[in-house]
Amino acid sequence: MAAPTPSDPWVARDAAVVWHGFTQMATYAGNVPVTVASAEGREVVDVHGNRYFDAISSLWVTTLGHRLPELDAAVIDQLGRVAHATLLGNGSVSVIEFAEALCAVVPVDAPHVLFGSDGAVAVEQALKVAFQYWVNRGEPRRHRFLALDGAYHGDTVGALSLGAGGFGTTVFDPLRFPVLRTPGYASADWAATAVAAVEDHADTLAAVVIEPLVQGASGMLVAEATDLTRLGEACRAHGVLLICDEVATGFGRTGRLFASEWAGPGFRPDLLCLGKGISGGYLPLSATVVAGSVYEAFLGEDLGDRTFYHGHSYGGNALACAVALRHLQLLEEWDVLAHVRAVADHLGGRLAEVAALEGVAEVRRRGLMVGVELDPPPGASRWGRRVCAGAVRRGVLLRPLGDVVVLMPPLTSTADELDRVVDVLVAAIAEVRAEDAR
Ligand SMILES: *Cc1c(COP(=O)(O)O)cnc(C)c1O
Repeated sequence: MAAPTPSDPWVARDAAVVWHGFTQMATYAGNVPVTVASAEGREVVDVHGNRYFDAISSLWVTTLGHRLPELDAAVIDQLGRVAHATLLGNGSVSVIEFAEALCAVVPVDAPHVLFGSDGAVAVEQALKVAFQYWVNRGEPRRHRFLALDGAYHGDTVGALSLGAGGFGTTVFDPLRFPVLRTPGYASADWAATAVAAVEDHADTLAAVVIEPLVQGASGMLVAEATDLTRLGEACRAHGVLLICDEVATGFGRTGRLFASEWAGPGFRPDLLCLGKGISGGYLPLSATVVAGSVYEAFLGEDLGDRTFYHGHSYGGNALACAVALRHLQLLEEWDVLAHVRAVADHLGGRLAEVAALEGVAEVRRRGLMVGVELDPPPGASRWGRRVCAGAVRRGVLLRPLGDVVVLMPPLTSTADELDRVVDVLVAAIAEVRAEDAR
């Protein structure tokens, strides 16, 4: 299929050389992409000067806003010291400072931090650590993973194996290693099934992997915190490691610093995967936080086989850690979580109107993570895409997951801004319904 010649010169230059992720390039130009030239606060500005409210936080990474003077200053200050120095066998000051601050707030006992640059790497590291942990302990029979239906853990082959598939990734099935799969948050009794599977298969399970509270990429499916608590207790009781993938939910999205906290003080992941909002959306950074009890199984003689032989060139980048440290401080200094809980309540009230609309099947929300599941009439096509395109034309940047419209506004969004997002969404849904009625 030949790509149409785009009328926008930036789109033409873009499509000539850039291959966009999760994007069919033959239709890229036809879907009227926004080419961002700059940003300010919670808005991005395109090459033509149009402004868009960033209602997806640049695909879930931006937290406090774009071009925040405090975060800009943290990067500039670190640039005057060093941009990057390897962590393989050596240390780096801003990394140590950030790791100390992070370890003070994660719901993990005696934490140690393995850094990476992307969420998928944080997951990949967690699954390799969990696997080798049991080898180092002399129990190699425990090598399987339990993961949920609807799970998404990233796009590298290991993370893809833990994920449930979909998004056109079934082509890679021959490359994926098998996992024990139980129902996800779409099933009301997901936890009972997972707990039973842990009880039945404990002797061969290395770890259970979940996205606590919200399965984001599968359309913002939500769980009850008490169900997380039950699963955590079962893992503990049977000595199965618990990996919590908080790449999406971490750093305030759900109204707590980490979604795991909703499951109570006794819910302590053995491995916690962090990414996306970790650097406030500034620079690529991810982390696998490992409990002391797991970490200690890797201690042994120099160059010995208990060592974790894994590491990425840019893992623990100094600039990224400097901005991540300042970001963590600002979350606290500005009492951002209280703000999130207040505006999320307000948004929840407004979304009740959306849930009642013709053309909407369900609205799911935890904090500022929202999925509006559309209910297209029989024969209607690409509703998610068309509704989001209508929102973009009205100055609100949205991107769907199939027929689920995702709202993931920055943590500092005001009630007025969220009202505008809802108003625009309502108008865009009405427009698409009217088009199909003609
Ligand atoms: C986005 C995401 C990932 C992958 O992170 P990348 O930085 O895109 O590699 C992993 N897990 C969850 C839950 C995510 O939402």
